[in-house]
Amino acid sequence: MSSKYVYFFGNGKAEGAATMKNLLGGKGANLAEMTSIGLPVPPGFTISTEVCTYYYAHGDSYPQSLKSEVAAHLAEVEKLMERTFGDPKNPLLVSVRSGARASMPGMMDTILNLGLNDTTVQGIIAQSGDERFAYDAYRRFVQMYSDVVMGMDKHILEHQLEMKKEQKGVHLDTDLTAADWKELVAEFKKSISEHLGQQFPEDPHEQLWGAIGAVFGSWMNQRAITYRRLNNIPADWGTAVNVQSMVFGNMGDDCATGVAFTRDPSTGENYFYGEYLVNAQGEDVVAGIRTPQPLNNHQKKPGDLPSMEDVLPECYGQLAAIRTVLEKHYQDMQDIEFTIEKGKLFMLQTRNGKRTAPAAIKVAVDMEKEGLIDKRTAVLRVAPSQLDQLLHPSLDPKAPKKVIAKGLPASPGAASGVVVFTADEAEAEAKMGKRLILVRIETSPEDIHGMHAAQGILTARGGMTSHAAVVARGMGKCCVAGCGDIKVDYKAEQFTARNGQVIKKGDVITLDGSTGEVMLGEVPTVSPKMTGDFGTLMGWVDSFRRLKVRANADTPHDSRVAREFGAEGIGLCRTEHMFFDAERIAAVREMILSEDLEGRQTALAKILPMQKGDFIGIFREMKGLPVTIRLLDPPLHEFLPQEEKDIESLAKSLHVSTQQLRHKVEFLHEFNPMLGHRGCRLGLTYPEIYDMQVQAIMEAACELVKNEGYSIIPEIMIPLIATVSELKTLRANSIRVCEEVIARYGVKVDYLIGTMIELPRAALTADEIATEADFFSFGTNDLTQTTFGLSRDDAGKFLPFYVENGLLPEDPFISLDQNGVGKLVRMACELGRSTRAGIKLGICGEHGGDPASVIFCHNVGLDYVSCSPFRVPIARLAAAHAALC
Ligand code: PEP
Ligand code: MG
Repeated sequence: MSSKYVYFFGNGKAEGAATMKNLLGGKGANLAEMTSIGLPVPPGFTISTEVCTYYYAHGDSYPQSLKSEVAAHLAEVEKLMERTFGDPKNPLLVSVRSGARASMPGMMDTILNLGLNDTTVQGIIAQSGDERFAYDAYRRFVQMYSDVVMGMDKHILEHQLEMKKEQKGVHLDTDLTAADWKELVAEFKKSISEHLGQQFPEDPHEQLWGAIGAVFGSWMNQRAITYRRLNNIPADWGTAVNVQSMVFGNMGDDCATGVAFTRDPSTGENYFYGEYLVNAQGEDVVAGIRTPQPLNNHQKKPGDLPSMEDVLPECYGQLAAIRTVLEKHYQDMQDIEFTIEKGKLFMLQTRNGKRTAPAAIKVAVDMEKEGLIDKRTAVLRVAPSQLDQLLHPSLDPKAPKKVIAKGLPASPGAASGVVVFTADEAEAEAKMGKRLILVRIETSPEDIHGMHAAQGILTARGGMTSHAAVVARGMGKCCVAGCGDIKVDYKAEQFTARNGQVIKKGDVITLDGSTGEVMLGEVPTVSPKMTGDFGTLMGWVDSFRRLKVRANADTPHDSRVAREFGAEGIGLCRTEHMFFDAERIAAVREMILSEDLEGRQTALAKILPMQKGDFIGIFREMKGLPVTIRLLDPPLHEFLPQEEKDIESLAKSLHVSTQQLRHKVEFLHEFNPMLGHRGCRLGLTYPEIYDMQVQAIMEAACELVKNEGYSIIPEIMIPLIATVSELKTLRANSIRVCEEVIARYGVKVDYLIGTMIELPRAALTADEIATEADFFSFGTNDLTQTTFGLSRDDAGKFLPFYVENGLLPEDPFISLDQNGVGKLVRMACELGRSTRAGIKLGICGEHGGDPASVIFCHNVGLDYVSCSPFRVPIARLAAAHAALC
């Protein structure tokens, strides 16, 4: 820990810099950087994140030197501003804000107008010449401070404000006079001391230290904890505290405040995009209470209020120039906050702007073309998990739709679900497996768990930068915001659309976050395409990665989708679904229930041509790319009828008695089928099943090679191997069948025979197993199940508890447990290579499409990952990130 805790910025000089985010938080680092590059930033100072760490480690106390450092820096601010903190004639007012290393919008506390009391308010009246403004600022401060620092129930003061309006016979806050606000301040303070048994602090220094403590304290509030958990932000990072001189956007009509993005955060288009409000304070824009005005005429739509470009052209020109400076400097799209006080522009914040997946791609590709960044940076700018948004279906443009309302297209994608009105309800219903649309008048940080649980979010109020819009974009959720066409009635649990139609809780609606449309019922969707900027970026991605990406696909259709998404082969073709087909199941059952080999062979002979057809279809789609086919894996009993009526009808068709069949079914019943008679154990006890499958694979390959000139090297994969002796036997069987088919066709076809590593014993003896395997594919679904001793089918009931309570960092079936299961994978790779140097290594468990797991796979030196077709682009991008980081 350093001995310096406070960093000054102001008047073109700063002790901090953008590179010091860990110490100063994102906001503090960027305030320092903006100051250094000559932008107009109100002076202030940042108390470092180290103080936050100290605060929690030392029972809410501060390092000894902090008081004097703060006092010294406050004096510097006073000097620059030519105002004095607490001075009755010329007082300095400050804001106190949080700012962590990663942006956590709205999760922690902020206090504005700090330094006001009954005497300094007179000074503000003298400075501003506006008594009403001064008392309005004062009452806002008392409300905010008592809520955030003192723990006063804010509704009590809000109620008092409503009563005051009623008493004065007015409806709007703006109709209250200076005298009314003055009375309210006194009434608020009285009420605070009655409720809390303590006086509102008059001493500005006491106020300042109260606010600093509250901001550090807010790092551990429930909202912040939830947000960190959802965004994987470590608790030990801590927050910084920024103390900055106040500038006012609400001192009259030559004042304003706004937020802007240097490019459109929704589409990525290269134009200045933002919202502002005349005569308002910063929170008014993001709180969604007043509908903001557009920044410029480019974004102005019919019916919008006048733009800043028209109303405050000089300030707009200055801001537009700052936009260019910021993009050049940061080489990324920025999200900025500004205030105009009496015609003078001030920058309050800049940070890398959150953006949707389409915007992330467009901005990255455009910036490369503009020469701002190189291809490597462009690839690293798009998070693999973000692509998920693009790889999911959007509304079918041809589908009929009944549009009942239109709002702002705040976060793209399409979602259908049942309407709920509270975040708690959304969370509860999602646990029951329902798809939901959370409908709110506006959202606040308290709603974040409900937004997470819902498929889409609809709000009646708020702009493109409202809480709902920003958070939804960050989560990659579809959101329609500021939908003035709907009237929400929480009490009646319903909303009314423009045409008077009433939508009740439980009704289904569809949102299109790309157009802002709200539709009744469920509207069908279509699959995405990998063209345009997406295609360009993926081209760069492929030039950087080493790891190959294959897909798990079992049908010709899935194989085609996989190839369209860039799969370089099939890493897992599960053959069992081919056995469940209505036509085939009868033959499969006949095979299982046959008493002798001959009966089984007769039944399998019926399946053989169908299996061969499946493989021909897949090989054709994959056009010579590698295809790994896994031989039958699931427990036998899964194929058998369980219901009495099905047993009866099967007995009839097999010409056996129901009694006999029931006995056979009971005999095959297993208590723990996932650890039972499945995988290679089937292949050993019923060798004719695997022989038939190998025959079908090789005949398909030989036919295509012979008749259609394909080059195919089938990869035959044997599941659930625990010992080398199992593999030795099955490999010998497979080779016998392959050679027999090759000889029969008279063509040369190479083939590989390998195994899945999905049991700990296989991983531990991988050196022995490699003597019989041309390749390993890590079946990390089963390997996770067997390493943890956790049933993959039942763990969903209690694993969320483990994750929520920090017993596990993540669900190990979603993201590979690198310390445990990963250790087995690493060990098996090393052991496998020790006996067979060039052994091909891949993974085909679900983890093959999880970005963190893909990076792990790159690092342990696998040759490829294999995942579901829709996740192939995610895996490609993650593989490029792995190679570039
Ligand atoms: C695995 O176990 O990881 C695997 C890919 O096989 P399955 O999911 O079919 O058991
Ligand atoms: Mg498995």
